[in-house]
Amino acid sequence: LELTLTPISLSDIAEEVVESYQTAASQKSIRLRTDCPKALPLAIGDADKLSRVLINLVHNAIKFTPQGGEISVEGRESGGGHVEVRVTDSGNGIPAHDIEKIFDKFYWSESAPVEARGAGLGLAIAKNLIELHGGMIRVESTLGQGSRFSFTVPIATP
Ligand code: ADP
Repeated sequence: LELTLTPISLSDIAEEVVESYQTAASQKSIRLRTDCPKALPLAIGDADKLSRVLINLVHNAIKFTPQGGEISVEGRESGGGHVEVRVTDSGNGIPAHDIEKIFDKFYWSESAPVEARGAGLGLAIAKNLIELHGGMIRVESTLGQGSRFSFTVPIATP
């Protein structure tokens, strides 16, 4: 797997992905919004691969958030020369004992409703792609309250 690295705007990618999921979100009366500062620095990355990561996270967020919930995609500059993107949902959350395994291949949590289970590959692929970029992906979650997935990508040096 090879990355094509160019300076990219993660706010543009976030807006495109959020736009493409508005219909799916509104079918569940979920409020889906993006919030990125205008001055978010460009990242150095593969636009296609990073939009796949974001599609995966937003897709999961919609899948695991019940009717009437909220999802936000936020970008910000994080320490250490990285841009961070966070996808926060008000969904069913992930039990503490599953948090470490959630990025493993073919893993799903018992808390995932059967009809929402996929191949269990999306997060493993996302982790792989983010690490190839020199970034990190992690999750914080409270069962029954929601989850926040965050990933970082290095800032493009001018
Ligand atoms: P799948 O295709 O099964 O969704 P993923 O690798 O994308 O595979 O996710 C693995 C598991 O992580 C899911 O089955 C679910 O148990 C859990 N998960 C992922 N995203 C969320 C989320 N936003 N809220 C709650 N659980 C999640």
